[in-house]
Amino acid sequence: MNAALVDAARARDAADPLAGFRARFAIPRDADGREKAYFCGNSLGLMPHAVRDAVAAELDAWASHAVEGHFRGEHPWMPYHRFVREPLAAIAGARPDEVVAMNSLTVNLHLLMVGFYRPTRERPAILIERGAFPSDRHAVESQIRFHGFDPAECLIELDADEPGGTISDAAVIDAIARHGPRLALVLMPGVQYRTGQRFDLRAITRAAHAAGAIAGFDLAHAIGNVPVDLHESGADFAVWCSYKYLNAGPGAVAGAFVHERHARTDRPRFAGWWGHDEATRFRMGPEFVPAPGADGWQLSNPPILALAPLRVSLPIFVEAGLDRLRAKSLALTGFLADAIDRELGEVLSISTPREPERRGCQLSLRVKGPRESGRALFAHLEARGIVADWREPDVIRVAPTPLYNSFGDCVRLVEAVAEWARGR
Ligand SMILES: *Cc1c(COP(=O)(O)O)cnc(C)c1O
Repeated sequence: MNAALVDAARARDAADPLAGFRARFAIPRDADGREKAYFCGNSLGLMPHAVRDAVAAELDAWASHAVEGHFRGEHPWMPYHRFVREPLAAIAGARPDEVVAMNSLTVNLHLLMVGFYRPTRERPAILIERGAFPSDRHAVESQIRFHGFDPAECLIELDADEPGGTISDAAVIDAIARHGPRLALVLMPGVQYRTGQRFDLRAITRAAHAAGAIAGFDLAHAIGNVPVDLHESGADFAVWCSYKYLNAGPGAVAGAFVHERHARTDRPRFAGWWGHDEATRFRMGPEFVPAPGADGWQLSNPPILALAPLRVSLPIFVEAGLDRLRAKSLALTGFLADAIDRELGEVLSISTPREPERRGCQLSLRVKGPRESGRALFAHLEARGIVADWREPDVIRVAPTPLYNSFGDCVRLVEAVAEWARGR
């Protein structure tokens, strides 16, 4: 045991104003009943205990009110998506009318590309980062094909230019300028899932707009992780899922942002009755009149059982305070990064950018040595009750989240890696 590290973590945890929030979450345990050190909030956030009651309340409402549940009870289903709007807007840095909870992430990406990716012969291309999350790449490629264009010519993938596989801001801006006249859409992540690199929404939007292109973002790994200022950034649209850092459960209802300047757009869209102006929706007329703002992009009446977790998970962020969460996140991940550098330099290298502004809570760790050693280390961590995730060929991703991880969790990780290294 590294006593100095243990003491440092203990002092940090004792002084942590957000430490109490951990008790709001179900922390998974191993066979001996010991809490695991959970670093997979970037993949599936832990369950807030409040979720159980929130879902049960909707089951009760269904049982006792049946169809009248649309209008009765504490949280009537008809306006249900509005119960999440304010906290969602706060977390996304958006005006309330700019955000909506609906569908799933890839569905939202497609729906918004229907409106915001309008390729022409002169301007058919989409710029994304190379190594983008496969679903995003599939979505983009299939949209290009759908419009009758060839992805080999119209899908531009931006290469990493930094040692850890990250992309410098300059390279992003330069690529946008270089391909500018052909670009219909720049679609970048807020935080890249593999490297943990955070991108500058504002700078990318400015460059995209200067080139005459639309700026869209996938915030799957950014929302609830890093400060996001969608409205001020000027981004045209954004999408995200809610089961990662937002802790709303597997397959939770996702989110979308449409900038205010497009609130009454006449861009084409795939329409459904839930996007119809609320005032006249139930006249059930044949003509589609879109609700202004993000609401107008909805298709269906929302899955209440899947929205209920979001209704109780989002207010936790607001209660904890977004600034305090970011401050703890920087401290927590910084603590882990420093300990890894100091104690585990022989075993691991960190590919995530070290500048605090260029990362969220996740660290992507490359395991030195042959591929088998990475797998062996990962198996060792699992056996020690440490939940991380493995990305071929040699990356272990760990995401200490400020809502439920402690400095003590980070020490457990460092100790387990050190133990494995000693035993090699
Ligand atoms: C998690 C994630 C997805 C998953 O898409 P779903 O539609 O929610 O299944 C897509 N893209 C990115 C960038 C992700 O991080």
